[in-house]
Amino acid sequence: MSQKVRTRYAPSPTGFQHIGGIRTALYCYLFTRKVGGSFILRIEDTDQNRYVPGAEEYIVESLKWCGIKCDEGSHVGGEYGPYRQSERKETYGIYAQQMLESGHAYYAFDTSEELTAKRKEYEAQKKVFKYDPSTRMSMRNSISLGKEETEALLAANTPWVIRLKIPADEEVIVEDLVRGMVRVNSNEVDDKILLKGDGMPTYHLANVVDDHLMEITHVIRGEEWLPSTPLHVLLYRALGWEDTMPKFAHLPLILKPTGKGKLSKRDGDKMGFPVFPLAWQHPTNEESSTGYREIGFFPEAFVNLLAFLGWNPGTTQEIFSMDELIAAFSIDRIGKSGARFDWDKAQWFNQQYIKEAAGSTLAEAAIKVAPDAYKGTDLDFLASACELMKERMTFINDIWEKGYFFFESPKEYDAKVVRTKWKEERVPLFHQLKEQFAALDNFSAANVEATVKAFMQEHGLGFGDVLQVFRVMLAGTKSGPPIFEMAELLGKTEVLKRMEESAKTFDEMKAA
Ligand code: GLU
Repeated sequence: MSQKVRTRYAPSPTGFQHIGGIRTALYCYLFTRKVGGSFILRIEDTDQNRYVPGAEEYIVESLKWCGIKCDEGSHVGGEYGPYRQSERKETYGIYAQQMLESGHAYYAFDTSEELTAKRKEYEAQKKVFKYDPSTRMSMRNSISLGKEETEALLAANTPWVIRLKIPADEEVIVEDLVRGMVRVNSNEVDDKILLKGDGMPTYHLANVVDDHLMEITHVIRGEEWLPSTPLHVLLYRALGWEDTMPKFAHLPLILKPTGKGKLSKRDGDKMGFPVFPLAWQHPTNEESSTGYREIGFFPEAFVNLLAFLGWNPGTTQEIFSMDELIAAFSIDRIGKSGARFDWDKAQWFNQQYIKEAAGSTLAEAAIKVAPDAYKGTDLDFLASACELMKERMTFINDIWEKGYFFFESPKEYDAKVVRTKWKEERVPLFHQLKEQFAALDNFSAANVEATVKAFMQEHGLGFGDVLQVFRVMLAGTKSGPPIFEMAELLGKTEVLKRMEESAKTFDEMKAA
């Protein structure tokens, strides 16, 4: 019987997770859901010095916003808990001890000064120092010092760490589901620290022990962890768990839109787009950043664009719901080379979702993003305004940014239209048009349109002469949403008021 698939997303709360992290979570989730497995959130918080308060909550909130549901995890519990590594400290000690006893690990007593001196000595000879089979006998550890001296040092409370005893010259094979077979010689690995004197494990030990105890079947993570994987394989070997070792899949990097290198947490602010799912404010310093949610992305569009950063379905379909992604996803369609981030494309995804959404959905989303902006606005009115504007919106907040004239009179008017179209001899005609509007009983889009058309015919005027001016009167700009529908939505009183106000301003603009 095949084993039930179990995967985990294992972020460290040392900062706010950016789109690279959430993409890892998404791919893990898609893969797991497709095969009916369990998706787990494990918080790798062993590095207490770099712990950022709020970072864990941020991760949970981002996953929730994206619609990525955890079957087990620090916030939902589960049978394999606790899911926060800081709460599992004793467990790691047990396995470090097991490796000491089986001869796969050893105590090392080198002080940081001694290690620095050693590194310098090697640098002077243009070499790089590595704590490994070739150097460990020249260092201060339980192998070089022997049993008696080690016991004496431990009894005297000499600071220690436990290191993995890397075997010399062994072949390590990592079978990666994305990159294929990666072969490394154990000589390239070093005797990594597994447990520190305060009993805290390093990432490597905690990660491997937890993946084993939580019966993780597939480790899906960023490419930056590929160099650590041979070490992890050696750890599984040392612990006697190689037979049940998880499969690995390392995801390609997300690259900057232009130039070299991976998209980093700092790029977003510089390049004019967010690199974080949600906005955050650092709890202890001035740093902060905006997020996709706050600039008005639909979570569905965000998920859709993330899915395409490193994977493709092999068809021309680009718009996928979460369920469709789950059905289409497969690890063998993940690319090996880096995925370049494209801000235009990212915006395109959101536009597609906005175009497809109902006005009422957009209205609710707009209120969620900026509750204060729409205080006192009727929900049906907002929904209708969104409906009229959606072809022109990239972000949910564009209903306000690009369509503020639905909610208040234009703040300024297109100067060129006023200069060229607000002709002295036509001014009285526009006042007549206003009177004709005033006489309408039913101020529907169709009636407004019929009135305008009859008016143009009567006075021998073209669309450009009348409609551009009318539009600038209502919205300030010469292009925008369908004008007759907009007039109906604003209502007769407001339209007459705006025509009156703008006519005065146009006269002043012409006189100036
Ligand atoms: N804690 C690691 C990180 O922050 C996890 C890497 C892994 O998935 O093994 O990315």
